[in-house]
Amino acid sequence: MADVTVIGGGLAGSEAAWQAAEMGCSVELWEMRPIKQTPAHHTDLFAELVCSNSLGNLSLTTASGLLKEELRRLGSVIVRCADANAVPAGGALGVAREGFPRAVTETVSAHPNIEVIREEATGIPDGPTVIATGPLTSDAMAEKIVALSGETLYFYDAASPIIFRESLDEDTVYLASRYGKGEAAYLNCPMDDEQYYAFIEALTTAELSPIKDFEEDMYFEGCLPVEVIARRGPETLRFGPMKPVGLPDPRTGEEPYAVVQLRQDDAEGRLFNLVGFQTRLKWGEQKRVFRMIPGLEKADFARMGVMHRNTYLRSNEVLEATMRVREGGPIFFAGQLTGVEGYVESTAMGLIAGTNAARIARGEEPVEMPRATMTGALANYITVKEGILQPINSNWGLVPAAPKKESGRRLSKPERRERQARMALDTLEGFLGLKIAG
Ligand SMILES: Cc1cc2nc3c(=O)[nH]c(=O)nc-3n(C[C@H](O)[C@H](O)[C@H](O)COP(=O)(O)OP(=O)(O)OC[C@H]3O[C@@H](n4cnc5c(N)ncnc54)[C@H](O)[C@@H]3O)c2cc1C
Repeated sequence: MADVTVIGGGLAGSEAAWQAAEMGCSVELWEMRPIKQTPAHHTDLFAELVCSNSLGNLSLTTASGLLKEELRRLGSVIVRCADANAVPAGGALGVAREGFPRAVTETVSAHPNIEVIREEATGIPDGPTVIATGPLTSDAMAEKIVALSGETLYFYDAASPIIFRESLDEDTVYLASRYGKGEAAYLNCPMDDEQYYAFIEALTTAELSPIKDFEEDMYFEGCLPVEVIARRGPETLRFGPMKPVGLPDPRTGEEPYAVVQLRQDDAEGRLFNLVGFQTRLKWGEQKRVFRMIPGLEKADFARMGVMHRNTYLRSNEVLEATMRVREGGPIFFAGQLTGVEGYVESTAMGLIAGTNAARIARGEEPVEMPRATMTGALANYITVKEGILQPINSNWGLVPAAPKKESGRRLSKPERRERQARMALDTLEGFLGLKIAG
């Protein structure tokens, strides 16, 4: 038997397997695809991105940027492969949808300590194990998880459609990044007020796909379906995903009334996804409504938007901040199953779980990441939160605040964020010197 078993080759499982292998442990990595698919994955690749191809902002003045930088310094294979497969995305880390997971698959599979097993895991082994089967865990494994940890929680997550660039009307769309930041990376579809309100009317009255046992309002606030945002009020999208500020149309020099942004999805720039347009509309309705967007009249869809139930644990009752179950042997959880939300957050929990499963295998005590780091703060939050745990993204409220003033001068928000990031990275460097290496 391997020193460490990792179940699930998603973002978290790939990271967990890599970390354990890098610590010298033999690792079995179980992935059920392509033998058994999930409702949202399409390939047999590890770390496939089920919706957006963005791993969030790169700036250290954002919580997501800090989390990625921490993972970079911790030797994350996911962030390394993402950096190597970046596509233009303004200030964000957009990755090639095919190139990124392929790089993860090749890198992880080539590790001499990792053996890949393409099979559905239906039981939990006795030795050090990381369960990273994600929000769409197979039914057999979900039963085992419930037996181990009690009832799970859930919410709904949706994916946005992807369109072939060649089908866009290039006379209408224009290339620009908001406020001209970085290279011009997004294709923008401008709307005037008449087009906007006609679009909102169509969007809010279009037919939805039926979902078994669906309960309204069980969405994650950070990833609401576009039609749900539109139903909150006619102006809501104009202040959300369709915000036109900082995106003047170069032909008029004016900001349009509203804008739909498309982000490059593949390395070659043939595919673009509709940013923030995750949806539960019926497929026929998606085509009808989204073709009302100027420039998309003849849009050819490479993939339609879909919505899925998304399972996670009551981590605040069952996990330690090391990602180990409080009772139940050397079993660790990682990824979205732990109640974090997002690709990078899931990866971070994979890194903690893989490292600690390897420590147990080596006869060492598991370690908690310092709470002043974004990685440690996330792990701490999901395991100590009082009441019902809601899925959580990285955010500045989790790490210690920076002083509002410095040498008598009031600091701007970006300056305070920058101070918080620096404190977190200094703490991480100290921790790496003291703990992991020691
Ligand atoms: C529809 C949808 C849209 C989303 N959109 C976004 C988004 O735009 N941005 C974002 O940041 N996050 C998004 N998420 C959240 C996203 O799922 C997570 O951020 C991330 O993929 C979770 O990583 P993970 O490793 O925990 O799970 P996954 O990446 O899903 O990996 C789990 C893996 O386990 C495998 N598996 C499952 N059961 C078994 C078994 N019994 N045996 C072996 N293998 C098994 C699966 O095949 C899969 O490869 C979305 C989620 C869904 C469902």
